[in-house]
Amino acid sequence: MIRIFIIFWVVLVVSVSVLAGPLSKVEKQILAHIDQAEPDAVNLLEKVVNINSGTMNFNGVKKVGDAFSDEYRKLGFSTTWIDGAPFNRAGHLVASYGNSGVRLLLIGHLDTVFAEDSPLQRYHPVSENKVMGPGITDMKGGDVVLLYALKSLHDTGVLDQFSVRVVLTGDEEKRGRPLDIATSALIDAGIWADIAIGFEDGDGDPKTAVISRRSASGWQLDVTGRPAHSSQIFREGYGVGAIYEAARILNQFRETLAGEPNLTFNPGLIVGGTQSDLNTALARGSAFGKNNVIAKTTRVVGDIRALTPEQLARSQAAMKKIVANNLNETTASIRFLDGYPPMAPSDGNRRLLAIYNQISHDLSMGEVSAVDPRKAGAADISFVAEHVEMAMDGLGLMGSGGHTVDETADMSTLKQQTKRAALLFYRLSQTK
Ligand SMILES: [Zn+2]
Repeated sequence: MIRIFIIFWVVLVVSVSVLAGPLSKVEKQILAHIDQAEPDAVNLLEKVVNINSGTMNFNGVKKVGDAFSDEYRKLGFSTTWIDGAPFNRAGHLVASYGNSGVRLLLIGHLDTVFAEDSPLQRYHPVSENKVMGPGITDMKGGDVVLLYALKSLHDTGVLDQFSVRVVLTGDEEKRGRPLDIATSALIDAGIWADIAIGFEDGDGDPKTAVISRRSASGWQLDVTGRPAHSSQIFREGYGVGAIYEAARILNQFRETLAGEPNLTFNPGLIVGGTQSDLNTALARGSAFGKNNVIAKTTRVVGDIRALTPEQLARSQAAMKKIVANNLNETTASIRFLDGYPPMAPSDGNRRLLAIYNQISHDLSMGEVSAVDPRKAGAADISFVAEHVEMAMDGLGLMGSGGHTVDETADMSTLKQQTKRAALLFYRLSQTK
């Protein structure tokens, strides 16, 4: 009798929990607030998309910052505008809330690639659920997803269960210099945080998120040879000249490193001869040389992208070794320029994706898998990934045509992405 009762009790408990579904009462309240607030979220998106904030339009970037600052203040956040004058950009908005529980750094950006003379300036619906606009997916849509996810937790009364720092940068599309000053607000927040989450549009597909990004930085190769009449080339004391030596170096880069998975390096511009000039800021060069004179100088500029800091360091060391192994009567040096560091795929990042994926299933929104890092460019989160236990990006508003005049949002993903983000913040807040 007792056994039968226990079996009955187990069946009852199991069936009740199946009926209740995978979402808690609080989570259902959070979702209801997001449904309610959707029209406001769309209005805000329209308003900020219609403010031109091309990176070098400092007034516009600040105006978008002010619009978000007002919204964060309504939720009880304290906000600070970090003036961008020291790094020749508009600046960044930092909004903070709470000082207990798990520490979340949430990342967006205010600027777009669309300057004031770009043909794409306005928010305009093109068909059902499709809206075009400058920066609508990259990434004012993501900024709105992030804000409304936090707002739903505020409206449910659970915002106090964790600490948040939101950093909306003003120069993601064209980073200010010096780099260390331009990125210091972001990196400080990364050092403070346990977890960093970015709201870029990733690869535009809500079935994916980004847990690794390759680095992006540059290099400059300078080669010198001994100028002499070309009839003497290859002879002892005359050597091969700067152009042959540059060709050897570039070819050996390719032969030695082109097979490395997730590593790429591209010489983008080369100038050589008796005299050469290369203006890296303008990405232009000029040269003078004659076919009967051994080349005296060659300069090459290129980029390099790697998946992990180790891969980047190892590849740079291999390149330096190749550069140092000079042919007769030549010298060469390579300089690596600063840029975006890699966001390496870590166990922590994979755990964060697993939590997000579970949420997506609980919401009946399907599987979420990791984007191939070859398809994900460097972004703000790259600067903080090494400072946090877990990092993930690409949780913003989805669409297509980013960085072109065809940039179009899929507005059906606005609520979906907001719901997944809100439950992610909430479940993370329950882990500490
Ligand atoms: Zn972006």
